[in-house]
Amino acid sequence: MKIILFGAPGSGKGTQAADLCGRLKIAKISLGDILREEVKKGTGLGKELKGYMDKGLLVPDEVVAKVIEGNLNSKGFVLDGYPRNLNQAKTLDGIFKKNNINYDVFVNIYVDEQTIINRLSKRRVCKQCGAIYHLVNMPPQKEGICDKCAGALIQRDDDKPEVIKKRWEVFQKESKQVLDFYKTQKKFLEVDGCENKEKIFEAITKKIGQ
Ligand code: AMP
Repeated sequence: MKIILFGAPGSGKGTQAADLCGRLKIAKISLGDILREEVKKGTGLGKELKGYMDKGLLVPDEVVAKVIEGNLNSKGFVLDGYPRNLNQAKTLDGIFKKNNINYDVFVNIYVDEQTIINRLSKRRVCKQCGAIYHLVNMPPQKEGICDKCAGALIQRDDDKPEVIKKRWEVFQKESKQVLDFYKTQKKFLEVDGCENKEKIFEAITKKIGQ
């Protein structure tokens, strides 16, 4: 199964991607996670990426295109965080054609702005394994400690209020064209991202017959 997950920052893409990979035993390709790994390494590229990410801006298309192509595999995947604009959608289409990959479904997880602000400002992530928590809806058993690996939980730099606002603006500007592009391809599916994570997961898996 090859799934493209789309939604605003904070729509729950990362959480659903992790759960879908667990259920379907396929690879999770999260562009944000891959980029953050590069930033952590402190390479020249990492420093350049951080400049965009800390401001809530998209990393240039030509940079992320290379990252994606190098990470796709034809067996099965959940793609989380790519594409995010029309140019990326067309690039992905080209990569699929070139590598003979047929995706199965594009899932749009839709949410409103207030839900996004609430989720992102209270989101915490494990510095070590990347597991995602929410201080109210999905708290860890021990404050500040990851349930899965005992790593430290931190707030992402781009989950600070000013950056959340910028990320939402970028999403609003780019998303319509991406949605229009995929709606024409007849593998388009939508789920309500304001529900809790179990309900969203159930809605997705039911609709894709898994
Ligand atoms: P995410 O973890 O998906 O919220 O992504 C965090 C940040 O990584 C974004 O705010 C962007 O700066 C960058 N990023 C992630 N995916 C993309 C993409 N498809 N194109 C450009 N930049 C991206």
